[in-house]
Amino acid sequence: MPSHRLLLSLLGAWLLAACHSIGPLGRGAAYGDKPGPRDFRTVVVDAGHGGRDSGARARGLTEKTLALDIAKRLAELLRPDFRVILTRSYDHFIELDQRAQTASRQSDAVLVSIHLNYGRRWRAGPETYWWRVDSYSLARRMQRHLAAVCPHESGNAGLVRRRLRLTRNPAIPCVLVECGYLTNLKDARLLGTSDYRQRLARALAGALREQRLAGDSGMGPLPAPVYAPPSKATDARG
Ligand SMILES: [Zn+2]
Repeated sequence: MPSHRLLLSLLGAWLLAACHSIGPLGRGAAYGDKPGPRDFRTVVVDAGHGGRDSGARARGLTEKTLALDIAKRLAELLRPDFRVILTRSYDHFIELDQRAQTASRQSDAVLVSIHLNYGRRWRAGPETYWWRVDSYSLARRMQRHLAAVCPHESGNAGLVRRRLRLTRNPAIPCVLVECGYLTNLKDARLLGTSDYRQRLARALAGALREQRLAGDSGMGPLPAPVYAPPSKATDARG
């Protein structure tokens, strides 16, 4: 019956519209499935933890303090060429969702969240977490540059695709780096020196500059998008 068909097609059109209207944090339309950024102007630098949340603590080092130090060094290195936004510039607590919102207010931008790792004593070296297709090349470049600075990787996970609040939820490409293990003697010795933290910051700045110039080129085929809802506080980590 024609009227039946009309009803069905109206229903179909409504469903399609509903799917697309879920919005950037919803699950309907593809999210973060675009190519990686190129020629971007702004870098949101996020120093992990802060205030009452000290992050990992081991071998006399505290994650929130080192993360802020590396973040400030990175900001300084980027400022001549980029607009830089620090999510925090002193020792205070910020919710992860608030950090994601700060990033989402920026356009033509990427987010880098800086952390230090905690694990078995023999694990050493950097790890880089990404989730979205638009963040893959930047994550690869960051992991490569960080690994070039670290003289002794051991049992570290390297480049990891994982849905975290700061690798899934912001409206801009976003990468989370673990610059080394506080629990590892060799990592901790290096991370305790300003010289090594400066080298880590330089590695991150180099990866950002490379991404801005080259976009995804030289990175091979892009990974397939994975559709998943925004990461929530109840998720295991992040
Ligand atoms: Zn952390």
